[in-house]
Amino acid sequence: SEVRGDAQDETELAVEGALRPGSLAEFVGQTKVRGQLQLLLDAARIQQRPADHILLSGPPGLGKTTLAMIVAHESEKPLRLSSGPAIQHAGDLAALLSSLVPGEVLFIDEIHRMARSAEEMLYLAMEDFRIDIMVGKGAGATSIPLDLAPFTLVGATTRSGMLPNPLRDRFGFTAHLEYYEPNELEQVIARSASMLDVDLPPVSRAEIARRSRGTPRIANRLLRRVRDYVVVHGGSSSAATIGDVAAALELYDVDDLGLDRLDRAVLDALVRRFRGGPVGLNTLAVAVGEEADTIESVVEPYLVRIGFTERTPRGRVATRAAYAHLGVPRHDGALA
Ligand code: ADP
Repeated sequence: SEVRGDAQDETELAVEGALRPGSLAEFVGQTKVRGQLQLLLDAARIQQRPADHILLSGPPGLGKTTLAMIVAHESEKPLRLSSGPAIQHAGDLAALLSSLVPGEVLFIDEIHRMARSAEEMLYLAMEDFRIDIMVGKGAGATSIPLDLAPFTLVGATTRSGMLPNPLRDRFGFTAHLEYYEPNELEQVIARSASMLDVDLPPVSRAEIARRSRGTPRIANRLLRRVRDYVVVHGGSSSAATIGDVAAALELYDVDDLGLDRLDRAVLDALVRRFRGGPVGLNTLAVAVGEEADTIESVVEPYLVRIGFTERTPRGRVATRAAYAHLGVPRHDGALA
């Protein structure tokens, strides 16, 4: 849907780019991670070497790509953007790695989806800045070693559990990004509102923050929909009232807690169809017509975070709070 965590069409991507903070100082929240990255970058600068490889995990829209851009910016090096799904063969990775300039920051989004054959090549590249290129096939095949320019890899994943240990172990620094607190999202929204020239009183800002699923990308998206709403329906006053916020978010199926249509479909299936669970991830995914991976990496983390679902060894279960939110009486045996 419109307000999901994934970046979508090109105009939206362009606006999103414009709203990206350009330095660690401008990056809101994630205080711990920010401090750790700052130290890593400072040390690299003092010793005049590329920073250690960095692995960032967490749900979409929490700032992984933004942090990669900041790493490049603060090290005053170019940034190369790629993604796991674009690296389907070792050759794709070899081409990418051999074209890096010294110190370049290589960002690989969704790194858990890279081809296995490329993964092995990446181990050596990360460790020794070297790859072995296979030439020929069968008995006549030989491998030619190739030295690479030293680089910093920034890997991002929504599924850190899917990364093989040897790959995870080769990152010098690993950080998990957490959902943002409403007051942090308010800072993100305030900054974006002033850049987009939206007149947003504090109550309206707080309401958008509260309904942004803990996610800066969603906060920025909702802000733009509220802006649209005011442009069309605002009348003489240009300020976005709390009524404008409520109306705009209702139009886009964002509920009172910030849950969107897919979040509610998952909850609804869990509560009504599977009587509160436990139900397996794949069964749940089929019931709502969505990929299991999306349910697990995008929908579920937030539902768990707000205490609506739990993962048990026997499957997913709905909590009392989920029943209350849907207004459904609890089935016998539902989790307290
Ligand atoms: P991810 O790579 O984790 O999916 P992005 O880095 O693309 O997320 O961030 C999505 C959008 O959210 C960016 O356009 C950026 O403007 C905004 N954003 C993310 N994190 C922050 C933050 N900490 N402070 C301000 N804006 C942020």
